[in-house]
Amino acid sequence: TYIVTDNCIKCKYMDCVEVCPVDCFYEGENMLVIHPDECIDCGVCEPECPADAIRPDTESGLEQWLEINRKYSEIW
Ligand code: SF4
Repeated sequence: TYIVTDNCIKCKYMDCVEVCPVDCFYEGENMLVIHPDECIDCGVCEPECPADAIRPDTESGLEQWLEINRKYSEIW
């Protein structure tokens, strides 16, 4: 899955939301999040993010961001 990280905080770009084929972006408190179970890992959103905030969860050190993405996407 892909996840949204801290560069997204207070970012107002919505480019990622428009390209996601499965609409798995949701609104967090002050950033967007990706639902980890709905994301199909297509990777289309990553290069579209002007803030470089979208990372694959296989990158190290992103565990807390995965939790945040899960927490805020499951509210809806
Ligand atoms: Fe959506 Fe694909 Fe990005 Fe996952 S990787 S959030 S499915 S655009």
